[in-house]
This record gives sequence, C-alpha cells and structure tokens, in this order.
Amino acid sequence: MSSELRVEQVSVVYPEQAFAALDKVSLTIGAKDLTVALGPSGCGKTTLLNLLAGFVQPSSGQLSLNGQRITRPGADRAVVFQDDALLPWLNVLDNVAFGLRLQGVSKTEREKTANAMLSLVGLAEFAQQQIWQLSGGMRQRVGIARALASHSEVLLMDEPFGALDAFTREQMQELLLKVWSHTGRRIFLITHDIEEALILASHLVLMTPRPGRIQESLTLDFNQRWLKGEPIRSIKSDPSFIRLREQLLSSLTAQPALREAA
Ligand code: ADP
Ligand code: MG
Repeated sequence: MSSELRVEQVSVVYPEQAFAALDKVSLTIGAKDLTVALGPSGCGKTTLLNLLAGFVQPSSGQLSLNGQRITRPGADRAVVFQDDALLPWLNVLDNVAFGLRLQGVSKTEREKTANAMLSLVGLAEFAQQQIWQLSGGMRQRVGIARALASHSEVLLMDEPFGALDAFTREQMQELLLKVWSHTGRRIFLITHDIEEALILASHLVLMTPRPGRIQESLTLDFNQRWLKGEPIRSIKSDPSFIRLREQLLSSLTAQPALREAA
C-alpha cells in the first residue's frame, strides 16, 4: 500500500470564473514531508487544501491518501485554519479535546491526550484558561494542539501564521518544525510568504494563478539547519537562501497576472 498523499491531474473550475482555480495539478506528499505551497493570492492554494481536506471535490482528476480515494472530510486529515477557529465557550483543554469527544473517546483518555499535546506546544499550564484570555500566538498553538490531538496522519494548514506579528510568527514557525520532527506528522502548509516557505519546507511547490498551476517543485533543507540549532539569522543571510529567495521573488513578479494587478 502506498503511504503517499497524492494529487493526480486535478482541475477545479468554479462556476462563473474565467480561469480554472486549479489546472491539472499533480503533487505527491511523502509520509515525512513538510510540503509548502507558495503563491500569490488567487493561485488556488486554499482550493488545493480544501480538496485534500475533502471539503471540495475536483472537476476532474483524483486525490488519495495511502491508496484510498479522498471523497469527504476524515479524521485522518486535520485542518488548522488561518484564524484559530476555536470555540470560545470551551476552555483550552476542552477545545483541544473537542474532536476526540466527537469521536466518542472517554473523558479521561481525551484529557490525557489533550494535556500531552498542550505540553508539546508549550501551553501545559494554560489548560484551564478561557480562549479570550490568550494572545493570538497562543490561540494558534491551541489550534495546532487540537489538530495533533486528533491522531490525524496529515496536518493541513492554511496560512496558519498570517495573522501574527513577525516575532510571534518566527516562534510559531520554529515550534511547528519541532512538532513536525518530534511527531513525524505529514504536513501540508500554504503561505504567500517566501521566507516562511523557504525556512519551513522540506518540499516546496511554487504556484501560479490564472489558471492555478504548479510551476516549480524544490527539495530544501534549511529547516534541518534550523532544527539542528543554527540561528535563523545566519540561515536567512546564507547566500544560497538569498539566491533562492530572489529567484522565487522574480518568478512570482514575472507573472503577467500579477503585473496587471500591480
Ligand atoms: P488562494 O488561496 O491562493 O488565494 P483560492 O483557492 O482561494 O486561492 O482561489 C483560487 C481562485 O478561485 C480565485 O480566483 C478565487 O476567486 C476562486 N474561488 C475560490 N473559491 C471559490 C468559490 N467557492 N466559488 C467561486 N470561485 C472561487
Ligand atoms: Mg487562500
């Protein structure tokens, strides 16, 4: 059985749209990959994530996880949204345990899992707090803990750090890498931030709009250097990082659709 998350020749055409949101997109996400889709607004990133989540069906082509067709949402794929999407009437622990409660897991068992996941994201002592008492970065960490608690095989993250300030964002990126390396969870993350894509991805796909396509696919290891303790400033000032950053920037700004919009 294949342990891959596969997107094969997938197109999505929304009614009333002149261009396909996705045009014959193919992508394979290996079991240990942290795949990042990078591209400007409107290139189909959220559509691709929604397909993987099973929220949207392709107009043509197919998607599969471990050889099984993806046709609907499932507990094997957890989604972390751009805004935290937490339930304000539940405390931190109950938010993290919520999915397990829906699955019928016992209270003792689900609280044990939720506490372990809160420790992993550094929020163990906040378990009993209310959501409104937390900062934006902490809420996003609760969202990640909730996704991890579900025992899903895949984490799907739609611009998860987009609403955070630059400093918190960098802390969250580092946290995500640690979670990824500790749990071995497969991650698909989308962003329009070039540096975020370069620093996080083991596999980066560059997307272009009108119609949404994958233009380039790169294998990277800047994330391994960060995980091994190299300071992020030193990685980001490395000539190879700067060269790739500029190359991606010129690919993105060379797109006619973007020049028109500018
Ligand atoms: P991104 O996340 O990269 O900004 P999206 O997947 O949200 O891109 O959108 C891709 C294209 O599809 C855009 O042109 C957008 O307007 C269009 N689109 C997205 N969702 C819908 C929808 N539900 N109905 C119609 N058009 C949509
Ligand atoms: Mg989007």
